[in-house]
Amino acid sequence: MDVKPKLSLVIPVFNEVANLFVLYDRLGAVLKPLGVSYEIIFVDDGSTDNSWAFISELAKNDQQVRALSFSRNFGHMLALTAGLDAAHGEAVITLDADLQHPPELIPELVRAWQNGAEIVNSVRQDTVGAGIFKKVAADFFYWLMARLTKINLPANAADYRLLDRKVVETLKEMKERSRFLRGLISWVGYKQEHIPYQAAARFSGRTKYSFSKMLAFAVDGLASFSPFPLRLATYLGLLGSFSSFLYIIYAICVHLFTSQTIPGWTSVLVAVLFLGGVQLIFLGVIGEYLSRVFDEVKARPLYIVSRKIGL
Ligand code: UDP
Ligand code: MG
Repeated sequence: MDVKPKLSLVIPVFNEVANLFVLYDRLGAVLKPLGVSYEIIFVDDGSTDNSWAFISELAKNDQQVRALSFSRNFGHMLALTAGLDAAHGEAVITLDADLQHPPELIPELVRAWQNGAEIVNSVRQDTVGAGIFKKVAADFFYWLMARLTKINLPANAADYRLLDRKVVETLKEMKERSRFLRGLISWVGYKQEHIPYQAAARFSGRTKYSFSKMLAFAVDGLASFSPFPLRLATYLGLLGSFSSFLYIIYAICVHLFTSQTIPGWTSVLVAVLFLGGVQLIFLGVIGEYLSRVFDEVKARPLYIVSRKIGL
C-alpha cells in the first residue's frame, strides 16, 4: 500500500501475546467506522514469547498491519520512538498493547485533532487495579518534576496520545538518547489538548515496569530536564561553608574571651563523616549526568531493527 494513510497507530509490544488479539479486535471495531485510512504499527521490543509470530500472522491477513522487531529489548520509550520514525500517517496515535489505553477513546482523540489540536494528550483519571505504591510514587514524581523543571507535565499523563505529523517530524529531529517522551512532548509546545479517560486494568500479564525500571525512568526524566540536582551541591556547599565560618568565629571568641576550650572528637567525627557522605552523593549525581553525556557522545544508534513487515 503506497497511499499514505491518514492515521498511524504505534503500539510497543514486549511479551504481550495474550493481549494482541483482543487489542487488534477492538482497534478494528473502533477504526473501521471512522472511515479514514489507517495503519497499525506493532513495535516488537525484543519479545521472548510468541508476540512476533502472532503479529506476522495478523499482517498476513491484514494489509494495514505493519511491524518491526528490535534485535533485543530496548525499552518502551525507544519502541515508541521507532514507531514514530516508521509511521506514515498525518496523525500518529501511540498506545500500549495491554489495553490499559482503551481504543474506544480514539475517535475523541481524532476529533480533537480535526478541530485543530496538534497534540492530543490523554490524562488518566484512575487506573483500575494499580497498586497504591505505584500511585503514590507517580504522584511524588510529578510533584517533583513540577517543582524542579520548567516543563509542564500534566499529572497522570499517559503515553496514549495523538501527534500531528508536524510534531512527529519535530520529535524525529530530537536525537537524544534519554527519551523521556512525555517531557519532550511538553517541551516542544504546539497546540495541546488534554482528554481525560478511565484507565483500565491490564488485560493480561504483568506490568513490564519493575521497581528498578520505574526508578531509572524517573531519574531519566529528572536528569533530562533539570540541572537542579547539580545545583543542589553548590547550595549545600555554600550553606556548609557559611555555617562553618560562623562556627570558626564562635570558636575564636571562646578562645579569646574565656578560659574554656571547645570540646571536640565527636563533633569533629560527625562533621567529617557527614561531609564525606554528602560529597560522595554528589559525586554520584555528577556521575549520572556524566554518563548521559558519555552516552550521547558515543552516538550509537538509538535502536536496532532486525525484522520488518510492510515498512
Ligand atoms: N513495553 C515495551 N518494552 C519494555 C517494557 C514495556 O515495549 O521494555 C511496552 C509494553 O508491552 C506495553 C507498554 O510498553 O505495551 C507499557 O508497558 P506496561 O503496561 O508494562 O507498563 P505500565 O502500564 O505498567 O506502566
Ligand atoms: Mg500497562
